[in-house]
Amino acid sequence: MLRVRALDDDPDNGVKKDDVYQFYIVDAHHHMGKEGSHRNSPTSAYEFYTLLWFELKKLAKELKDSDRLLFEPIRIIPPPLQKSIFQLRRNWNRWNHGWLVDRTIAFPYTDDYSGRTNDDTASFKISNDKIAGWTTRAPHSSRLIGFCRVDPNDALAIEPQTPVEEIRRSATELGLRGLKLHPLAQLFLDSIESDQMKRIVQEAYKLGMPIIVDSRNIRTAIRIRNLIESIREDINNASFSPSIILAHSAMSPGKSELYEILHDSSFSIDTSSLHDRDIPLLFESAHDQMGAGNNIWSEKILFGTDYSFLSVQAAELILHLLSRDFLGGPRDIQNVLGGNALRIINRPVLTYRKTNLAPQQIICKDDNQQSTFVAMSVTKHLLKRGWDLTSIDYLPPSGQKYLTSKQSQRRKYSGIDLEEQVLSFRHEDSDRELIFWVTQQQNDYISLNIHGSGPFPSLMTLAESSMSSDNPLLRAFHDNSQPAENIAVMLSKLDDIME
Ligand SMILES: [Zn+2]
Repeated sequence: MLRVRALDDDPDNGVKKDDVYQFYIVDAHHHMGKEGSHRNSPTSAYEFYTLLWFELKKLAKELKDSDRLLFEPIRIIPPPLQKSIFQLRRNWNRWNHGWLVDRTIAFPYTDDYSGRTNDDTASFKISNDKIAGWTTRAPHSSRLIGFCRVDPNDALAIEPQTPVEEIRRSATELGLRGLKLHPLAQLFLDSIESDQMKRIVQEAYKLGMPIIVDSRNIRTAIRIRNLIESIREDINNASFSPSIILAHSAMSPGKSELYEILHDSSFSIDTSSLHDRDIPLLFESAHDQMGAGNNIWSEKILFGTDYSFLSVQAAELILHLLSRDFLGGPRDIQNVLGGNALRIINRPVLTYRKTNLAPQQIICKDDNQQSTFVAMSVTKHLLKRGWDLTSIDYLPPSGQKYLTSKQSQRRKYSGIDLEEQVLSFRHEDSDRELIFWVTQQQNDYISLNIHGSGPFPSLMTLAESSMSSDNPLLRAFHDNSQPAENIAVMLSKLDDIME
């Protein structure tokens, strides 16, 4: 998380000089694996983020000296739960750095081993396995969100269903949470509006996977929009709305066609590859062309680095958001830096393993503890018992919760509530899978909600329902609720439940 201090008042956005904000940062565009001279793994990613922070500080000093900064970066802070997971083992703790970026959406390169073989295996199968190996095991599972990649041409070269089956395998067996497509690298620029692409988009949508599509110009972006519209016509459903992220903002930050596409609820863009004048041009155009009415223009733009194809130029983009030139306020900054990505991910790792367990709840009476401590204790306990942590998510920011001051009047939080955690675990040698929703209740008690098999609500649904008093989700957990006077009792009750 990036902590910043306001150097001046900004009354339009409710900012006072010396206010402190803390932004939770998600890198929504990041490659892992191996392509020619490019290699990247979780540990090199964290090293990159450490480097990015040094670059950011250096450039920030120059901007501050010329009085162009509104928010001065002060320091970076690891989210407490993620930090303590890295501290669990000494060999994990050496990767406990680079916390300028809190979460990373990681997907394959066009890996050296991603091509079609002659045994009818889907392209990217090994790449997807590797991404899952990195992103769904502790400790990296607390920081990384894995996306799979497929080649639509497999539908012609192997079997019509091959790409769709690989997407399904990635979601339901591997626990990957989104899809990356690259029309240029996989040579399907001319067949974006094809039947195989329609099947791919519909499958990803069914599995709740957002799709990030490389787009280098406005023509590609328009073709992708046409593809979505043509599916809507085919299925006679105008509200069909898969989540599509146009990578690199289609390299068209000044084009009005881009913002026309963004008016469609399916679409958003990422900032990877933007630099120099293109950075202010993107935000000014988005603000001017999408700022009217109920449209919140900053909800359409996701921060991304495209590491390792691109490197520390991402610092330039963050500093634009912190500068006097940026047209939005702290809420817009947090949208771009991470809020939008969290809303799009919207679900924990959940494969198709079956655990027969009705919803359960344990309420901890020890009101001195924070929910982070409870989540950490549960994690530690389960890791010792042959369970692996497959994901940690915080509830995405929803309306009213955004940027409310807490406790201290001077410190304003970004709106991403780190005390509301959703943790997913998978047993190493059985098919069992469990989801825990740890939540701080109004009376200062902490509830540990335990979910076995069956559909789990989206994180947005949880975020919205946790604010309402009449909450069917909470009631389902509450019907099977028991108190525990302290954490030790809570863990022993958990053992009983999981027997
Ligand atoms: Zn890329």
